[in-house]
Amino acid sequence: MERVDLIVRGDSVIPMEGSHSVIPDGAVAVKGSKIAGVGTYGEISKKFESDNVIAGEGRVVLPGLINAHTHAAMVYMRGLADDLPLKVWLEEHIWPAENRWLAPEFIADAVELAVAEMLKAGITTYNDMYFYEIVGADVAKRLGMRAVLGVGVIDMPTKTTAGADECLERAERFIKKWRGDELITPAVAPHSSYSCSPDTLSKSKALAEKYGVHLHTHLCETEGEVEEVKKKHGKTPVIFLDEEGFLGENVLAAHCVWVTEEEIEILARRKVGVAHCVESNLKLASGIAPLVEMLDAGVKVGFGTDGAASNNDLNIMSEMSTAAKLHKAVTRDPTALNAHDALQMATRWGAEAIGMGALTGSLEEGKAADIISIDIEKPHLSPQYNIFSHMVYAARASDVDTVVVNGRVVVSGGKLLSADEDEILLKARKWGEKIRAVEQGQAAS
Ligand SMILES: [Zn+2]
Repeated sequence: MERVDLIVRGDSVIPMEGSHSVIPDGAVAVKGSKIAGVGTYGEISKKFESDNVIAGEGRVVLPGLINAHTHAAMVYMRGLADDLPLKVWLEEHIWPAENRWLAPEFIADAVELAVAEMLKAGITTYNDMYFYEIVGADVAKRLGMRAVLGVGVIDMPTKTTAGADECLERAERFIKKWRGDELITPAVAPHSSYSCSPDTLSKSKALAEKYGVHLHTHLCETEGEVEEVKKKHGKTPVIFLDEEGFLGENVLAAHCVWVTEEEIEILARRKVGVAHCVESNLKLASGIAPLVEMLDAGVKVGFGTDGAASNNDLNIMSEMSTAAKLHKAVTRDPTALNAHDALQMATRWGAEAIGMGALTGSLEEGKAADIISIDIEKPHLSPQYNIFSHMVYAARASDVDTVVVNGRVVVSGGKLLSADEDEILLKARKWGEKIRAVEQGQAAS
C-alpha cells in the first residue's frame, strides 16, 4: 500500500485523456502535487491509502477547466460599459478607465476577485495578458491558482510603459523571476499585429525563444482589424505574421474570427493554438469564428472568456454550452461540436493550445493534480444518461463542488478555502463605488 495525500472519488470520473472513457465509481489518487493513479475506487483503494478521501456520491470528477484567454484584472470593469460598438466601447470607455485606474493596488485586488471567480467555476489554469503581471502572479500563487501570465507588449505608450522596449524589458525581468515556478508560468504577450510593429513582434518572438516560453496575442478579432493590417502591411494578419516568421507551436492566438480557409490551413501547419472566445465575440458583435473548420483542419482550440468587461463573467462552462449550441445553428448541423469535443476544448485541448498539455488538462498518472468535482444531485441534472452531454448542456459553474490545483484543495463544498471571500467582495464593492463616482462624473462632463 502506498500512502498518498488525497483521494478524490466520484460516481463517475472522466479522465479526458483522449478516449471517451468514463470510470464508474472512480477515484483519483494524489501524491504531493501530482496524480499518482486514476481508476475505479476498487483499483485505487487496493494500491493507495490516504487519511484524506473526498466522498464521491453524486459527484462527477473531471480535470480542471482551462481558460485559454483572459485579462483577469478587467473584472473591476465588469458591466462598466455595455451594448456599445467595439470602437466606442474600447476608445471611449475601457481605455480611458484603464488609464485612470491601472496601478498595482487595483491589479492586486482585481486579480484576487477574478481568481476567486474562476476557481469557484472549476477553472484551474488561466492564460492571461495584461499589465502588472508581476502583481497578478503573487495573487494567483497565494490563492493556489495555476496561471500562464503574459506580460503585455504594445508600441503605443500606456500609463504603465513608455513603449515596446520597456514592455520587453519588463517581460524579461518577469520571466527570470518566475520561470521554473510550480504554479506561475511566464509568457510574452505582444498585443496584436495592428498594435505591434514588425520589429516589436520579432523582438517578442526572440525573447520567448531565448527562455522557451509561450507567446500570447490577439488575432483577427474584428473585420476592422483585418482591414487595418491590410492597409498597413498589404496582407491579412495571419499571412503577415506568418511571413514575419512569428507563427509557431509556442503561439496562442485569441479569437481568430476573421480567418480564411487558407489562413486556417496556415494556423494548423504552424501548430498555433487558438482561444475561441465565443461569448465575448457575440457580445461585441465581432462575428463568429469558424470553429468547426478550425477543428476539422487540426488546429488546437480551447475556450477563452476574454476579459469580464466584454463577457461579462469568467465562466468556461457557459462558453462550452454557448459554443456547442451556436456552432450547430451556424453550420445547420446538429452533430457539429458534440459534447465530448466541447469538453475536450475546455480541458485537454485548451491546455495543449496554451502550451501546458504535458502538465495539465487531463487526469493521468504523472500529470499535475488539477481536479474538479461537480455536484450532480440537483433537479437540473436529473436524471442522468450521458455524462458528457450533462456537463456541456445542463451543468453550471455553480455546480462545482471541489477544486484541487497542484494537489491543494482550494474549493470545497463550493466555498473558497484559499482566501477570505467576504473580504474580496468588500474590496470589490469599495473599488466599484470609487470607480463609479469617477467614471460617471467623466461621462457627465
Ligand atoms: Zn483579449
